Amino acid sequence: MAFDYDSENIFAKILRGEIPNDTVLETEHSLAFRDIRPQAPVHVLVIPKGAYISYDHFAQEASEAEIVDYVRAIGEVCRMEGVEGDGFRMISNAGEHGVQEVPHLHVHILGGRPLGRMLQ
Ligand code: 5GP
Repeated sequence: MAFDYDSENIFAKILRGEIPNDTVLETEHSLAFRDIRPQAPVHVLVIPKGAYISYDHFAQEASEAEIVDYVRAIGEVCRMEGVEGDGFRMISNAGEHGVQEVPHLHVHILGGRPLGRMLQ
């Protein structure tokens, strides 16, 4: 499948500094910032700086350096936000069925309260 990245999506604009964000962590290849509509006391979005639409796109085309940086950035955000002890949830919506609003790969990190059971 060819991935057709839309460089005018909101997170691309955040990466270009055209839209402000509340940054939690910036690394060489990743950026983490607070969701504008938080669903929990901790709601941070972690994105790669590269132009990847989804996890599938990232897994197929990102370099090992980008992948390692991204995975580690997610763990670092969990530690920084203090959710690794009580627990947290990671979600990455993709495509139409996944109801992905912004077509740039992002992982939601949610925590700071009991989140309830998501899958039955
Ligand atoms: P999705 O449905 O694509 O998984 O989630 C996209 C998320 O991006 C939503 O939770 C939404 O609140 C968040 N979002 C949309 N626009 C902005 C923005 O301009 N700034 C920030 N910080 N978050 C945004």
